[in-house]
Amino acid sequence: MQTAPFIAVARHRINLDGEGVVTLACFGGCPLRCKYCINPQCFEPHDSWKSLTAEQLYEQTKPDELYFLATRGGVTFGGGEPLLRTAFIREFRALCGDLWTLSVETSLNVPEQAVKDLLPVINHWIVDVKDMNPDIYASYTGKENTHVIQNLKLLAENTQPQHVTIRLPIIPNFNTETDRQKSIGQLRQIGFDKFDLFDYTIKK
Ligand code: SF4
Repeated sequence: MQTAPFIAVARHRINLDGEGVVTLACFGGCPLRCKYCINPQCFEPHDSWKSLTAEQLYEQTKPDELYFLATRGGVTFGGGEPLLRTAFIREFRALCGDLWTLSVETSLNVPEQAVKDLLPVINHWIVDVKDMNPDIYASYTGKENTHVIQNLKLLAENTQPQHVTIRLPIIPNFNTETDRQKSIGQLRQIGFDKFDLFDYTIKK
């Protein structure tokens, strides 16, 4: 059984990272370098990362099963980028069965195959789109958003819109409310209608 690196596993998060009671499991490793990343410790391998097998994570999360079932909660995989760890997540689904809600918090800036691998095992996709404008996206994350747009289309074709939440922040010095409204328009055309709109607060 393979291991995966984690920067944190947090229990009893209520209505923060998906519906109901959730354990948030954050993988190390991310392809992006967002300027205001709140988890920069996920960028490079670090002594604080903890290696776990899917079975070990399952043993850690199982004590909350009753809460998960009563609230339609479960485990949300974040990061870092959880779509770099699709084999682990599939293994975890085989261990926990079909009744837990499994969610991912992802940038979708990964090869298409990663999304295809997880379509059968993920109930809810929380997609951190940043901004649909390629120039804004590149200046904020250091990467192009070509994969993101391809994967959004793939997701729209293969999931119900209510199973996808799109996160769209206002990012100080990078985008504006006008930019965000343009992103919303493009995303509605692709087929999404559930948006989480918020503003980043930058500490001075
Ligand atoms: S996608 Fe998330 S974890 Fe990765 S650099 Fe951006 S904010 Fe940080």
